[in-house]
Amino acid sequence: MLVLVLNAGSSSLKFNLFDMTDERLLLEGMAERIGVDGAFHWSAGAEGEQRELPLPDQSAALREVMALVASRVPEGKSINVVGHRVVHGGPKYGESVLITPEVLADIEAYSLYAPLHNPANAQGIRAALQAYPDIPQIAVFDTAFHHTIPDYARTYGIPYELAQKYGIRRYGFHGSSHAFVAARTAILLARPLRSLKLITCHIGNGSSVCAVLHGQSMDTSMGMTPLQGVIMGTRCGTLDPSIVDLLIEKEHLDYRAITELLNQKSGLLGISGVSSDFREIEAAADQGNPRAILARDLLTYDVRKFIGSYAAVLDGVDAITFTAGIGTHSSRLRAEVCSHLDYLGVALDEDANREGSGERLISQPGSKVAVAVVPTNEELMIAREAVK
Ligand code: ADP
Repeated sequence: MLVLVLNAGSSSLKFNLFDMTDERLLLEGMAERIGVDGAFHWSAGAEGEQRELPLPDQSAALREVMALVASRVPEGKSINVVGHRVVHGGPKYGESVLITPEVLADIEAYSLYAPLHNPANAQGIRAALQAYPDIPQIAVFDTAFHHTIPDYARTYGIPYELAQKYGIRRYGFHGSSHAFVAARTAILLARPLRSLKLITCHIGNGSSVCAVLHGQSMDTSMGMTPLQGVIMGTRCGTLDPSIVDLLIEKEHLDYRAITELLNQKSGLLGISGVSSDFREIEAAADQGNPRAILARDLLTYDVRKFIGSYAAVLDGVDAITFTAGIGTHSSRLRAEVCSHLDYLGVALDEDANREGSGERLISQPGSKVAVAVVPTNEELMIAREAVK
C-alpha cells in the first residue's frame, strides 16, 4: 500500500511517500516559499534535486509534487491513500478521520484555535482533493492523541459557561510525535506500552512535554494553542495573562501586534537577542553571552520543571524520552535536565548520552528511571494512521 503524506504550511508543502508493506520511505521533499518566489527540493535514497521555480499557491506546489510522485511510484502500484497533517482537531476529533466536506469545514472553523496553522492545512487539503479526487484522504490531527487528558487537567480557571461556549480548554499538540516516541520507548525497554508511565519531551523549534500513562496522554504542556508551556524558539511559553494587559497599555500594542510578539519575537530569540536556533544559543552561551546563557538555562529549567510535575501526575515514572531537534541532538541539554533528577532515581550514562547517536537508552543499566533518545517520525505515524 502506498501512502502520500502531506503537511501544508503557510508558505510550504512537505511531502513523503511511503510503501507501507515494509514502511519504507520512497521519497521525501518540500516546496518552500510558496506565494513568495518558490523553491522545490526532494530526495529518494541517494538521489535528489533542488531547484527554484515560481510557486504562486498550494495548488501549484502540489502539481510539482504530483508530477514527481507519479514518476517515482513503483511499477504496478499507485497511491492508495493521502494522509494530511492537521494541527487542530478542536473538541470533536479524538481520532484520524476520512476527509468529507463536513470535516474540511470543521478544520477551517478550528482556525479559531490555530490561526497560523489550520487555514494552511485546509488549503493544502482542498488542493489535494482536487488533485486526487478518487483517492481517500485522511486528516491526522496533532491534538487527537491528547483527547484522553482528564477534565481536571484540561480545564482553565475561567467561567465554565464561557469555556464551554468557545471550546476553551487544553488541547495539546505534537500528538503524532508523542505517540510515536512513547511506542518506540516501550520497544527499547522491551516492555508493553500499556504497563508504562512515560514522560516524553519533544524539544525542537516548538516544544512540548507529555505525561503518557499506559499509552494514553494524561497531560501536556501546550494548551488551547501551541503557545503555552515550555519556552520555545520564538514562542513565549506559559505567561501570566496580565503581562498582555500591561504591554497593550504601555506599548500601545493591538491584538495583532501582541500575537506576533508572543509567537514570533519571544522565546529563545526574544530572551537571547541572538537567535531562535538552539545551536546558535549554545555557541553564544559558550562564549559567555549572558542573555544566551539565560535563554539556555530557562529552557533547561522549564523541561525539568515539567518532568517533575508529570512525575507527580503519573505517580512515578518508568522512562523519560527526549525527541525533536534539540531533544535528539543536544546531549548537554539532556545532561543538564537529568542532573537534577536524582531524587526520581535517574542515573544518566554520560558516555551513551554524549557519544551515541540515533535511538538508544542513555541511562545506566541500574537506573530506576530509564532515559531514552528517540528521533521522532511524525510522517510515518501519519502514514500508519492513514492506513488504519
Ligand atoms: P521543528 O519544530 O521546526 O520540527 P526541529 O525539531 O527540527 O524543529 O528542531 C529544531 C531545533 O533543533 C533548532 O533550535 C536547532 O538548533 C536544534 N538543533 C538541531 N541540531 C542540533 C544540535 N546538534 N545541537 C543542538 N541543537 C540542535
